[in-house]
Amino acid sequence: MIVAERKPIAELTSRLAPYRRILVVGCNTCVAVCSAGGAKEVAVTSALLRIALGREHPETRVDETCVERQCEVEMNAELAPSLGNYEVILSMACGVGVQTLAEQFNTAVVIPALNTKFMGRPEGLGEWSERCAGCGNCVLERYAGVCPITRCSKNLLNGPCGGSANGRCEVDPERLPCAWQLIYDRWVALGQLDRYLTNEPAKDWSSSLHGGPRRIQREDIR
Ligand code: SF4
Ligand code: SF4
Repeated sequence: MIVAERKPIAELTSRLAPYRRILVVGCNTCVAVCSAGGAKEVAVTSALLRIALGREHPETRVDETCVERQCEVEMNAELAPSLGNYEVILSMACGVGVQTLAEQFNTAVVIPALNTKFMGRPEGLGEWSERCAGCGNCVLERYAGVCPITRCSKNLLNGPCGGSANGRCEVDPERLPCAWQLIYDRWVALGQLDRYLTNEPAKDWSSSLHGGPRRIQREDIR
């Protein structure tokens, strides 16, 4: 899923300070699952904003709502009739949702409430870790199912840097396992350690963001 976290309330308060009529819009999908921008977080954030903004301007109105998926134009259509009542939308979706609202309602001011972080998975209560950078040409089969692009601090694709100690990454041993230790351990478990010694050709990054903004067009379903 897309993992995000809310910006500090002080930052949101300062961005919203010029506005008196504010609509906070959450999203019930990825950012709800990662507890950043679902209905609960929208309610908490709206309450905090009412207190913070209301100190200087008690007339400030902060309303709240949630759409199912803010990245889909059809699902945002329900917002249209009420938007004239507001000076600004505070979007609690990921960056895709924020941009969708801004494109769809092109006279509305849309401000992001979240920092969109990465594609990852939950590791336990209140913890998520990055697993995929969307490189556009998945090479996990060459690395025993461990992505060195996201999990090696130096994004090394042909073996470890030499700084790993006790299976931990030299960049942050407390927090990070060495990705290349994980790859090694997986090849051992799979009985294919010879794959560890295979040199991979340089990766073609044109399928990633380095090749410019990407788009998928499926002729079979268009
Ligand atoms: S190789 Fe690319 S697509 Fe596959 S998990 Fe890593 S970043 Fe994602
Ligand atoms: S210690 Fe391992 S994970 Fe860290 S940068 Fe070196 S090879 Fe990558």
